[in-house]
Amino acid sequence: MPYTVPKLDDYSPEALDRAIAGLRSALEQEVAGVKSEADHEALRIRWRARTNGILTQINDSWLKAAPKEAKRDVGQRVNELKTWVEERVESAKPGAASASVTDKLDITLPGIRRPLGAEHPVVKTTNEIIGIFAKMGYSVETGPEIETDYYNFESMNFPPNHPARDTQDTIFIAGQESKPQRDRLLLRTHTSPVQTRAMEKHRPPIRVVAPGKVHRSDTPDASHSPIFHQVEGLAVDTNITFSDLKGTLDHAMKELFGSDVKTRFFPSFFPFTEPSADVQISCIFCGGKGCRKCKHSGWIELLGCGMVDPAVFAAVTQERRKLNPSDDAYNPEKITGFAFGMGVERIAMIQHGISDIGHFYSGDMRFLEQFA
Ligand SMILES: [Zn+2]
Repeated sequence: MPYTVPKLDDYSPEALDRAIAGLRSALEQEVAGVKSEADHEALRIRWRARTNGILTQINDSWLKAAPKEAKRDVGQRVNELKTWVEERVESAKPGAASASVTDKLDITLPGIRRPLGAEHPVVKTTNEIIGIFAKMGYSVETGPEIETDYYNFESMNFPPNHPARDTQDTIFIAGQESKPQRDRLLLRTHTSPVQTRAMEKHRPPIRVVAPGKVHRSDTPDASHSPIFHQVEGLAVDTNITFSDLKGTLDHAMKELFGSDVKTRFFPSFFPFTEPSADVQISCIFCGGKGCRKCKHSGWIELLGCGMVDPAVFAAVTQERRKLNPSDDAYNPEKITGFAFGMGVERIAMIQHGISDIGHFYSGDMRFLEQFA
């Protein structure tokens, strides 16, 4: 019995699967019977002829007749099926395989050049920042993106139920309710937990930068993305003062944006630093005169920083004493430190005059090629 296209009255995925399987096995059987060029031509006409070929019939009796809600699914399946049938019919030509190799291979054609890859602007700026701090003796430290509540919040001096946690719009991992709060997993909202992890591992003096991805349940807009990147910094030693922090960040900003850039520090609040400050740089677009980019203030807010809160040292000491009960490496009477955190995308946007953070993640080659 030659194959005839069945009418469909059931458009469920299961019924479609059955109909497609029937068609595929019918074509396979007919292909097996092809012995000559003439057989193949007959097969080609039967399946691919524009008027009344089997593919055309499928288009009419499956796709066009499909109810509205099934159209999308049927359309997709029919398209895939068409490609398959066309290829199958072509490859059924007697001698097709050998012809395709000898006729299609022209060894005199130039080879295919694959374009060289380039660093993504976010990676590029991250590396620039790391490079600047590396020259000042900082090494790179990393931590997990899936963090515990302890490292992300508690060790950073966010007490349980503290309202400051709400400002971080945390994405929590589901099904953690049976665990104690400190062990519950979440996607880290900042790179700051790497501070604690570094101090648990190393005795002072410490100078580290921690680059990495962070997550917040933010609604995406031109300046917000639920995933973005930060570089955290931490320096701990004897006699580290706020002046050291100011000098370090002022130098880093001049390296990043040019030696004309000025910095200024404003009082701010972070649970893990005391005192805390927001750092602004003089607007690199107008030189401080005021323009749209700096909202006519002459200044652009860029990062947060502060002196490490003694409560953070206390949390580190508590953990270190689980291994060595007499550990006193982070006694806040003897050492001090500063920490800072900056958003990589924000810095890259200012460096390159990018107006929408979404460009970084769109995968649009026209955007990315500008940084190659
Ligand atoms: Zn400006």
